[in-house]
Amino acid sequence: MNSNQNDIKFIIHRGSHQFGGNCVELATRNARILIDCGLPLDYDEQDVETQNEIRENAQKWLQNCDAIFLSHYHADHYGLLNEAPKGTKVYATKETVELMKISGVFGEDLTERLDIQSIENTVIVKDFRGTKFDVDHSAFGACAFLFEVYGKRILYSGDIRLHGKKGVLYKNLPQHVDYLFLEGTNLGRGVRQKTETAIENEFVKRFSSHQDNAHLVWCSSQNIDRLVALYRACLRTGRTLCIDPYTAYVLEFAYSVHPTIPTAKTHPNLMIYYPHRLTTMMMERDKTIIYGPYSKEKKMDLADLATNPSKYVLLFRPKLLGDLKKYLADTKVCLTNSIWAQYWEQDKPEINRLKAWIEEKPELRQKLPDIHTSGHADVASLQKIVEHVQPKYIVPIHTEMPEKYKMLFPSYTVLNVIDETPIELINPKE
Ligand SMILES: [Zn+2]
Ligand SMILES: [Zn+2]
Repeated sequence: MNSNQNDIKFIIHRGSHQFGGNCVELATRNARILIDCGLPLDYDEQDVETQNEIRENAQKWLQNCDAIFLSHYHADHYGLLNEAPKGTKVYATKETVELMKISGVFGEDLTERLDIQSIENTVIVKDFRGTKFDVDHSAFGACAFLFEVYGKRILYSGDIRLHGKKGVLYKNLPQHVDYLFLEGTNLGRGVRQKTETAIENEFVKRFSSHQDNAHLVWCSSQNIDRLVALYRACLRTGRTLCIDPYTAYVLEFAYSVHPTIPTAKTHPNLMIYYPHRLTTMMMERDKTIIYGPYSKEKKMDLADLATNPSKYVLLFRPKLLGDLKKYLADTKVCLTNSIWAQYWEQDKPEINRLKAWIEEKPELRQKLPDIHTSGHADVASLQKIVEHVQPKYIVPIHTEMPEKYKMLFPSYTVLNVIDETPIELINPKE
């Protein structure tokens, strides 16, 4: 046995007992890599002292790190990347890299400070050979990673689901690995998750049953499957989907990779509205991404909302409310959640302003309907993934219920790990 084999270990820095904030380290004597570098989902609710501690810990983990592998562009997986030293190597899918560039328009452009490279297939980082496998998730370009080191194979699922449009991708995941780091967000919910096609049908029903209203749908600009479902529902109900310039830009890029995805340039019933604050911010960085590619007919006049409410569905985010409010004052509106319900519970100024606005609009005071499905696998899907991969060990991550894994996967060995505890890869203590 090579002496180095005794020194291969992994450490879950964070994520063994919570949703998100994932950060996993793999290390040998010669090399250290991190998989994801996520911000805890409740970061904003913490006091300043705790927030500083979270950042300082990340800085420690990121010191002398040979590379970071990012599974996808959700803050609970990349959100502490700005703590990485200048020039740190980062590998992610081309979709994730592009989303980072687009977001650089609004804040620090990490692609300028870090050495961010897109991973087509496999990269070698000293002792580690990392290979990406595309998976279905609510973030565009999400992937799992296989790491091979001294004959051991470690598969990291990232966030994954089977009920989206590309659920079948799980069948490409490598089999008979030594370790499967498996997310378990939905272990507490016994229900089967709805498909995106079911979501599309629910949108159709909602738009048809409130025909005279303009519809606002709160949905993530990066959830491409959902945007497609929403767009198709608009087509089916004769409405025009109106998106902000940021979303338009995301769709343009998505289209360049997958030409079936609708964009304002290529598809009918898709227009762009220009919220003042967002537009100004984007203009300061790059005028071309705002007006460059679009003809005049594609620009939606927000004033038309009050006159022709039944014509439109607006993609909405709480941060855009300030700019939309005056156009919605005399408009009959329906609001629909198409995001994780927990976002409503966050104590953020924009959420509080949205709640106050809802109180002002009588038609919105009733309970807001959710038209949403999770970005994470349900229990039956997790079992399918495990049956396909057939790992020697399962390591729970991105879950509040790691203890449930033993019951769900009785024919497999589950390693219940706690954050910050190094585990030997060769002879792990079960
Ligand atoms: Zn996550
Ligand atoms: Zn995610």
